[in-house]
Amino acid sequence: MNVRAAVTQSKGAPFTIQEVELDQPREDEVLVHMEAAGMCHTDLIIRDQWYPVPLPAVLGHEGAGVVEAVGAAVTKVAPGDRVAMSYGSCGACVKCQAGRPWVCHDFWGRNFAAARADGTSALRRGGEVIHSHFFSQSSFATYAIATERNVTKLDPSVPLGVVAPFGCGVQTGAGAVMNALRPEAGTSMAVFGTGTVGLAAVMAARATGCTTIIGVDMRPTRLEAARDVGATP
Ligand SMILES: [Zn+2]
Ligand SMILES: [Zn+2]
Repeated sequence: MNVRAAVTQSKGAPFTIQEVELDQPREDEVLVHMEAAGMCHTDLIIRDQWYPVPLPAVLGHEGAGVVEAVGAAVTKVAPGDRVAMSYGSCGACVKCQAGRPWVCHDFWGRNFAAARADGTSALRRGGEVIHSHFFSQSSFATYAIATERNVTKLDPSVPLGVVAPFGCGVQTGAGAVMNALRPEAGTSMAVFGTGTVGLAAVMAARATGCTTIIGVDMRPTRLEAARDVGATP
């Protein structure tokens, strides 16, 4: 099918909206009609090739939308379900089996290789391969193919534009506080940098009972945002 996507052609090139061809979902894949996608710093540094992700590619890894079609083996979601997308993981390695998919043995392959696990791409432009499956989604497009493992079904009341950044930035900041630091009530915490990740950390600090929460940033507007979501004055 033809879709519109923001293609990153080469190192440092602007995101360019183009028509490209997207495969139908394979047996274990989910086709999502995108409604929202967050822009994360990682998209920008991949565009600038800090990491050797192959280009041209469609980036984007904080997607949310509505399931359009599913492969025959997919049981978790069905067409019409509203979903958020996050990072990919294999589901089979010892880390995934232990419930720690963020340290999946194939984390690079599922997220930064910009290809399916078998090395193929779901995107083409004319005869040329455009790399897909960035973070198992490539969500800077009108449609994206994810895997069953990296989509989460949402309650119909959840706004897709709000939930999209949960796929990376929000869970990174909130997860660092709630799952790794686990502060006791009454703890003081300083958060350096109050972008999406930092603001999520501030919110999580507040939610877990921290009483002095210090936001540190060079931009006054970000400090104001930090105060709005829970940093103490
Ligand atoms: Zn794994
Ligand atoms: Zn990210």
